[in-house]
Amino acid sequence: MKRIPINETPKYLGKQIKLSGWVNSRRDHGKLIFIDLRDRNGLTQVVFVPQEKEIYNLAQKLRNEWVVEVIGKVSQRPKGMENPKIETGKIEVKAKELKIFSEAKTLPFSIETDGHEIGEEKRLKYRYLDLRRKRLQKNLDIRQEVIRFIREYLQQENFIEIETPILTKSTPEGARDFLVPSRLQAGKFYALPQSPQQYKQLLMVSGIEKYFQIARCLRDEDPRGDRQAEHTQLDIEMSFVEQEDILNLIEGLYLNLCKKLFPKKKIKEIPFPRFNYEEVIKKYNTDKPDLRKDKSNPNELAFCFITNFPMFEWHKKDKKWGPMHHPFTKPQTKNIKEINKNPEKILSFQHDFVLNGNEIGGGSLRSTDAETLTAVFEVLSHKKEEIKERFGHLLEAFQYGVPPHGGIAMGIDRFLAIVLNEPNIREVMAFPKTGDNRDLMMDAPSKVSKEQLKELHIKVSKKND
Ligand code: ASP
Repeated sequence: MKRIPINETPKYLGKQIKLSGWVNSRRDHGKLIFIDLRDRNGLTQVVFVPQEKEIYNLAQKLRNEWVVEVIGKVSQRPKGMENPKIETGKIEVKAKELKIFSEAKTLPFSIETDGHEIGEEKRLKYRYLDLRRKRLQKNLDIRQEVIRFIREYLQQENFIEIETPILTKSTPEGARDFLVPSRLQAGKFYALPQSPQQYKQLLMVSGIEKYFQIARCLRDEDPRGDRQAEHTQLDIEMSFVEQEDILNLIEGLYLNLCKKLFPKKKIKEIPFPRFNYEEVIKKYNTDKPDLRKDKSNPNELAFCFITNFPMFEWHKKDKKWGPMHHPFTKPQTKNIKEINKNPEKILSFQHDFVLNGNEIGGGSLRSTDAETLTAVFEVLSHKKEEIKERFGHLLEAFQYGVPPHGGIAMGIDRFLAIVLNEPNIREVMAFPKTGDNRDLMMDAPSKVSKEQLKELHIKVSKKND
């Protein structure tokens, strides 16, 4: 017999069906035993009657969260016993057979509530149980819908989804790299990608023209705010485009996505307003303005784009220039000497995408000539040797016919947290880490054996217990 998803039970009125799932609750009502059976799709009431002696006795043992299979007949509930709160509230299943797949210990916390009242360390340690919660299941469902929509939309626009390596070389995005020691090349290290930036630009040299990827980005950030060591970006790169083409694509994508998946949300202004960096700082004192009329209204979405950023920012602490975005961003000057002479005056073709006061995306047009890139690297205090060692492959690639190109990357987690009115991005990720990058469920990071370290030619000088 084929298993029926629980939400479809009412369709089978009068018929015998098979359901499987978790015991959500059990009630003994004198002679009758009721359980609410739960699967991913819904909840339904199952009744055990004393006449079915064998399974009735078995049903007496059932406890919350046991995993069972029930075969029974779908019947109308007696008048007055309906439950309008659930989709299957008009029917119940009269059990004929019961199979217990697995018993369950008492859970460390309730999964009935939205979970916000439970200590987060505990929720993260038992994340596999936390994820049984309706709210989180819904978040994962919507996450999947959003990603599905993005894929279909971009594929229709003739983009091609391409995976890029996870074991790679350091590429500057402003955070620290996670390093992976190489066993075969003793003393050498891979870096985990802070973004697929160089690969996506190299794909433009390959003639791909329209690339996207739902990409994992790994940044070894110090604990601050609502950051995660791993986050997911919608990464895009396009050839033969102006900045306006990129902004229009993103505007179309997010407008359609919100209309289809979040129809109750009201978008404050269409087309999305565009600001100059200077103008936005003057007016709002931030480059991430929250343009909502009523900031307590959870259904308002105020998108905007910011352009004309300065190319460089002065890092007081290190007494040197840093890139406002990243060094591959194209400066708005044709006079290369000007870059070294007056870095503070140079604007760039950077664009940021902002929603309700949060930066949810950023990108730029790229420099494609070696002279400009070298000048930028020099302002950023990279020595000639270092430029060659770290970026030589890119500079070389650009000598073989490079199209003008640009792109953008959008934070998927942040966008979801905002549209789902979640207080942080951990609520929209299946397995998030703590603020200091620990996975409490897997207990990672963790120690490794002496043998493993030896193979990697690594000695640990300071242990952190
Ligand atoms: N790689 C950049 C980032 O992750 C985005 C881009 O320039 O496309 O912020």
